[in-house]
Amino acid sequence: MELLRPRTIAEATAALRDGAVALAGGTEVVPLLRDGPLLAARLVPLAGVVPRGVDGRRATPEAEQSHEVGAAAATAAPRPVLRVGAGTTLAELEVDPEIPAALREACRLAASPQLRSMGTLGGNLLQATRCWYWRLHSGCWLQGGDRCHAREGEHREHAFFGNGRCASAHPSDPAAALLALGATLRTDRRELPLSELYRLPRDDDRSTTTLAADELLLELEVPSPDASVYLKAMDRKRFAFALVGVAAARSGGEVRIALAGAAPIPWLLAAPDALDEATPLPGTSYKVEVARTLVDRALEAVAP
Ligand SMILES: Cc1cc2nc3c(=O)[nH]c(=O)nc-3n(C[C@H](O)[C@H](O)[C@H](O)COP(=O)(O)OP(=O)(O)OC[C@H]3O[C@@H](n4cnc5c(N)ncnc54)[C@H](O)[C@@H]3O)c2cc1C
Ligand code: SF4
Repeated sequence: MELLRPRTIAEATAALRDGAVALAGGTEVVPLLRDGPLLAARLVPLAGVVPRGVDGRRATPEAEQSHEVGAAAATAAPRPVLRVGAGTTLAELEVDPEIPAALREACRLAASPQLRSMGTLGGNLLQATRCWYWRLHSGCWLQGGDRCHAREGEHREHAFFGNGRCASAHPSDPAAALLALGATLRTDRRELPLSELYRLPRDDDRSTTTLAADELLLELEVPSPDASVYLKAMDRKRFAFALVGVAAARSGGEVRIALAGAAPIPWLLAAPDALDEATPLPGTSYKVEVARTLVDRALEAVAP
């Protein structure tokens, strides 16, 4: 396997063709290469290419924030926005007082201190599913096969929304926090709301993101809410993926709620009672009840 040394964004994107894989902290890429689900002819390290760190606040008019919806957004005053490099580690974010509480807490509750000191925000948002059938390289539906093995098999950690084809549950805590915060992304070629980075896999395209193979995630813009929180239910208190994670952010009169561990992609909950529309598998109906409790607590925590 070849290890390249790109010095610029243009060099890195040019190198990301024909089976090359981007390497940030490597906490996801290295185990996947070792265990088999990921194949790479070349690795393209991103250190020194993708921005790292948090830029000071700047006021961004609401009109420029294309992800905002509803009357509250149209009338609200400009809100400060933080620019976070996709190469910033989770460990750097969890201790930065400028970062909204929901994102800080989502980073603090993710993985272990060692993984957080290596793992970047960009890599976290783009991590693959933790579904054990996928990790075992079983040739399931998401890997191009014709069956979702989890539906009839073990699925207690799987999805209760958006699970018609693939029932995996998106593992990223920071993604749920950023979705609730209404973050936007900048790649080397476009700007988009975080919600548009993800898509449910379809028969004709089983990817769960809209990122092109040679596209680099560079930076996120994170609005500062009036209040935000991230709550996470886990099998144990530390070093466990979310059974359910709930992020809530209040900005003016609007509260946005997003879930981790709920669907194959981070899931924006239109309203608390949208949990009534969940489509759990037999083994994941308990998650809906966990989500109800966490959503209630999160709403209480961000109430004026
Ligand atoms: C044991 C374990 C437990 C974990 N627990 C949790 C948890 O509880 N909660 C949670 O949220 N996460 C958890 N994680 C995930 C962890 O946070 C991620 O592995 C880490 O953040 C990935 O970042 P990285 O920089 O190491 O990514 P890498 O491994 O380098 O890359 C991951 C993916 O992103 C791509 N990529 C990386 N950066 C870019 C970029 N800028 N542009 C385009 N593509 C890019 C890579 O090509 C690759 O596909 C856990 C991971 C492990 C191994
Ligand atoms: S849940 Fe998704 S990743 Fe897991 S076996 Fe089913 S199709 Fe594959």
